[in-house]
Amino acid sequence: MGVRDVLDEGLGGLQHNFLTGRIEDLVNWSRSRSSWPASFGLACCAIEMMATGAAHYDLARFGMEVFRASPRQADIMIVAGRVSQKMAPVLRQVYDQMMEPKWVISMGVCASSGGMFNNYAIVQGVDQVVPVDVYAPGCPPTPETLIHAIETLHQLIEDGEILRRRKETGAGANVHIHEIPAGSVSTPVILGSR
Ligand code: SF4
Repeated sequence: MGVRDVLDEGLGGLQHNFLTGRIEDLVNWSRSRSSWPASFGLACCAIEMMATGAAHYDLARFGMEVFRASPRQADIMIVAGRVSQKMAPVLRQVYDQMMEPKWVISMGVCASSGGMFNNYAIVQGVDQVVPVDVYAPGCPPTPETLIHAIETLHQLIEDGEILRRRKETGAGANVHIHEIPAGSVSTPVILGSR
């Protein structure tokens, strides 16, 4: 193992021993638990994204409550809503301004495929603009579905899968999850009621 291996391969270039064997895991775990989303909503899906960050669903549980106004402080782009042709270059610029490593969740059928907007004004899939790691289905996806997408992304970050695939193919991890109906996961805790 030399410095060159680490420069070329990143943490993957480390030859693990009893001292360094867990460093990669620790870094990936830290990354997954401190991933801040960019404040970036495009259409109605963004309302569900905001609801996911609010008290009832509480993204703070995953270290993600801080939606950053500056892309330079954000790790995750949640593409929440349809992407118009005019907005596509702006979206790409925001993505380019985010620091590496960075991740993308496509939220809703409009972002993922154009949805019911099968016309010239809407990009027919945001994967034409940025590499998508996780697709959250639905119109709009419920907060439960978005949290499922986020947890899936965390798992992919933790095991290093996304960076591996991006290095091999230049594309995102391209993982499709299933939709979770609203209210089907757990009963919310009502603060103050005894
Ligand atoms: S998927 Fe549905 S809720 Fe989301 S942007 Fe499209 S129309 Fe709006």
